[in-house]
Amino acid sequence: MKKADLNKYEAKLLEEQIKLNQDLAGIGTFNTENSQWEAMPTSQDGPESDMVDLADRVEDYEGRSEMVKTLSRRLTDIQDALKKITTGGYGVCEISGEKIEEARLDANPAARTCKGHINE
Ligand SMILES: [Zn+2]
Repeated sequence: MKKADLNKYEAKLLEEQIKLNQDLAGIGTFNTENSQWEAMPTSQDGPESDMVDLADRVEDYEGRSEMVKTLSRRLTDIQDALKKITTGGYGVCEISGEKIEEARLDANPAARTCKGHINE
């Protein structure tokens, strides 16, 4: 891949990485012991909160957990892609070893596979 293209994808990946970290910081906390993002626990409102509030807060926590998982997976893909730009192997399908199509990388610079292996 041409250096100019690598720079283009790297810039996109870095931009998305910053945004993902900001989004994660809004709903989660980074656990430095296992290097994983975790959903922020629900704050306690005080003794007067009733059962409806409790159910709502649990649902919110579950919603945050799901979102944290989704964003973390995406962040991992981006970090792996950035590593490949530095160490080599960026833009190569992890299944077939073929070059990943430019249109696919334009749509998703963190793509791990070519169009033929999109679901693997
Ligand atoms: Zn492939």
